[in-house]
Amino acid sequence: MAMKIDGEKCVACGGCASACPVGAIAEGTPYTVDAEKCVDCGACAAQCPCEAIAAA
Ligand code: SF4
Ligand code: SF4
Repeated sequence: MAMKIDGEKCVACGGCASACPVGAIAEGTPYTVDAEKCVDCGACAAQCPCEAIAAA
């Protein structure tokens, strides 16, 4: 399992990428999660201001 970013909600603030301990989130519009790297820690979801991140 890995986190997934809802492109409709993401405002590309970059908070999730800064919070990720394993560098699994790539910059973009929307930002995206590399499922191969994600360790499901939840740090990104806690950081997102618009609840765009949830377990996929
Ligand atoms: S759940 Fe953790 S490891 Fe996975 S993308 Fe979010 S911050 Fe990174
Ligand atoms: S923290 Fe939320 S709004 Fe900001 S870039 Fe990440 S997914 Fe998008």
